[in-house]
Amino acid sequence: LGPTITVGEILVEIMATTVGAGFLEPQSLTGPYPSGAPAIFIDQVARMGGAAGIIASVGNDDFGRLNVERLRRDGADVSAIATSADWPTGSAFVRYRPDGARDFVFNIARSAAGQIALTPAAEALVQRAGHVHVMGTALSIPGAREVILYAIETVCARGGSVSLDPNLRKELLTDDGALESFDKVLAAADLLLPSGDELLTAAGVSEEAGAVARLLEGGIGEIVLKRGEQGASFFGRDRPRVDCAAFAVAEIDPTGAGDCFGAAYLTCRRKGMTPEAALLHANAAGARNVTRLGPMEGVSTLAELTAFIAETPRR
Ligand code: ATP
Repeated sequence: LGPTITVGEILVEIMATTVGAGFLEPQSLTGPYPSGAPAIFIDQVARMGGAAGIIASVGNDDFGRLNVERLRRDGADVSAIATSADWPTGSAFVRYRPDGARDFVFNIARSAAGQIALTPAAEALVQRAGHVHVMGTALSIPGAREVILYAIETVCARGGSVSLDPNLRKELLTDDGALESFDKVLAAADLLLPSGDELLTAAGVSEEAGAVARLLEGGIGEIVLKRGEQGASFFGRDRPRVDCAAFAVAEIDPTGAGDCFGAAYLTCRRKGMTPEAALLHANAAGARNVTRLGPMEGVSTLAELTAFIAETPRR
């Protein structure tokens, strides 16, 4: 089947350099870095040699060119990235709290990313695709959710598959449309990649085992739960649970780990690896990503993951 595709925001990310610093006073920032959860995801798929494309929109500006050139260089299909004449490339400003939480200031709705639509190039990519990966963040964009639901219907009708990373950012859950489309995507998903409480939220159940059981009974084939520096767990219908400890690395910047993890897991499964092997590679992709400043700077090739797995101890 055809390439893995995703739909959603391409952004530049600009980060606070001091943990605990807020945006209420001038401070030093670093960036711009290429970003946007769907963009990080698709870049990681492409770096691993998987066929990968993204439906997106950037401005006719340097922030857009920074992103498109990175994706192109890493081997992603950029034919369905529109360049808006009227809107600038979107952005995300990130600050880090001492407890590890992050706060974002997003500029998506009133940016090029907010204008995503089913262009002829996007339609052509959907017609070639074999798998649709959905990032929860993209469901905040009305045009993107229409394209996502259309892509799911089209690709599933041809026997393709769907994955969902809930990636629920409190800053983006501002309208009912996002939550309604979330339920539709969840109903179509073969693979779910939640982190933290997203598993419980998606299932509407307050503890992990019950949430997993509810979702597997509901038709999802595989659930891979991301646990940050605790590693990750696999749950499958008619398959034994697998737990994988995290690799012991020094974290520099956590943003993007979940996107790289999901991309590596999916790409390994689409290449025919077992869930155990895919989980190990996904853990490695997440761990390598957190060792680099910038959300997309720590993406990995398959050879880099293999070498990292062989040489890195686990927690
Ligand atoms: P994000 O939203 O920042 O992209 P996430 O919350 O979706 O991330 P995490 O659970 O933070 O996802 O990270 C995904 C995976 O990356 C983890 O399951 C783990 O395998 C790896 N990982 C994350 N942080 C670390 C760490 N500090 N050390 C080692 N591995 C890590």
